[in-house]
Amino acid sequence: MLGDPMLLMTKNKPERTGTKADKTLEGVDSSRIKKVVDLYDRRIFLVDGLLSEFRGRAIAVDRIDEVGGERKYMLASREWRNEKTVISVDGVRIGGGKTVVAAGVCGIESLEQALRAAHEVRELGADIYRAGTVKMRTTPYAWQGLPVEQSLRILREVGDKEGMAVMTEIVNLAHLPLLLKYHVDIIQVGTRHAQSFSLIEKIAQTGVPMLLKRGMGNTTEEFLGAIEYALLQGNGNVFPCERVIRIFTEKDIGVRLYDGAQLDLDARFPLDIKGMREVIAKTHLPMAGDPSHSAGVSHKVPEYSRRLLDAGADMLVVEVHPDPRKAKSDADQQLTFDEFGSLMKNVVRV
Ligand code: PEP
Ligand code: MN
Repeated sequence: MLGDPMLLMTKNKPERTGTKADKTLEGVDSSRIKKVVDLYDRRIFLVDGLLSEFRGRAIAVDRIDEVGGERKYMLASREWRNEKTVISVDGVRIGGGKTVVAAGVCGIESLEQALRAAHEVRELGADIYRAGTVKMRTTPYAWQGLPVEQSLRILREVGDKEGMAVMTEIVNLAHLPLLLKYHVDIIQVGTRHAQSFSLIEKIAQTGVPMLLKRGMGNTTEEFLGAIEYALLQGNGNVFPCERVIRIFTEKDIGVRLYDGAQLDLDARFPLDIKGMREVIAKTHLPMAGDPSHSAGVSHKVPEYSRRLLDAGADMLVVEVHPDPRKAKSDADQQLTFDEFGSLMKNVVRV
């Protein structure tokens, strides 16, 4: 079912930055303008209507694109912006050519643990400190992280001590004011919230750079649709992150899914490299990959990292713990400092 016809009308943003977006557009009835947003160096008007109605009419815009229906994303596409977007976070350039590595603990367990991990990963070449503050676990009986404010305070303190930008996942929109209070540099939206569009919009409205994971049950088109929600809020510092997707096997749901196919139970969470290449080819945004949550076990993290980098990832997000065996979450997949050091040397900075 196709939606109502919509158009994106784009023009260069007026010189004076910081001016409130002018909500009018010469030649277009203002009741038809649904949204006005500034993105990169352009001003965009989302307008109700068909291209044929406006063709040949004098409207003060540089281009008009049809969106909606089968066209699920336009602002994320190379068709709309034909230059690779580089996202700068505290001097780190994501998408600027050099592979960016965000590393750190799955979950902050104490100041000492978080600080030690940040110090070591920085020494070993990580650019950004990524640590979970509140953990969203499959079962409510599993460890959920320290109290949110305590965790965020530690994250900020560690980032400041080590001079690193920090990234953490938001698991509850009610925590957003706290993430802003502690100046989280990149807000991560996890796979479980990958289609929580109102959450994505509200985070995007803050202007804070945002890493958006692919929903584990999402096609690449749906993934790009989620990114589009964020861009349409005028936040250009939004970028996708690939992680494994889930396929169900006969064992899970009791019916034969793929007639005659040999199902590899190991591949219940396949890494969709083809899909990732497609996202890279279609969009101007930098692309991240998460080898840790993809591999699920530490010894496979180098192989997954290599595959993500070979496919064109600009950034890796890697979990590292001072003593993975004792980690309160994701113990199997977190790397020791030695393992992280060899990943950096043999896979990332080769
Ligand atoms: C994470 O990065 O900490 C995480 C929980 O990842 P995902 O949302 O991909 O499961
Ligand atoms: Mn984890």
